[in-house]
Amino acid sequence: MTVVRKGLPGATRTCPHCRATILESSARCPQCLKHLRVDPDAASRAASTQVPFKVEGTIKRTAGDDPAEYAIVLVLRDERGQEVSRQVMGVGALLPGTERTFALSVELTSTGRAGAARG
Ligand SMILES: [Zn+2]
Repeated sequence: MTVVRKGLPGATRTCPHCRATILESSARCPQCLKHLRVDPDAASRAASTQVPFKVEGTIKRTAGDDPAEYAIVLVLRDERGQEVSRQVMGVGALLPGTERTFALSVELTSTGRAGAARG
């Protein structure tokens, strides 16, 4: 994962509640959903936030299936196709007659700073 200097777009910090690595600019942790600070610019940030990518799917094991194991792997690549990060987001088992729904979304918030550093 690329380390970005504090104050620049893409700079990160650790959520004090769940210890997840989150954006320094986040007023609310996207993992534990707890508020981190009062954001006087919340309305304008919300207006400039888009979700350009969102997928969701369900995998079911029917009663006659064998139990199965799953690993949720997230791979991030840059514009050249080179891997920036790879994380196992979770693992588990699907037993006959059970299902799991997997959802991934990418939130994109404009910083209003043209030409600033990349992350
Ligand atoms: Zn958190």
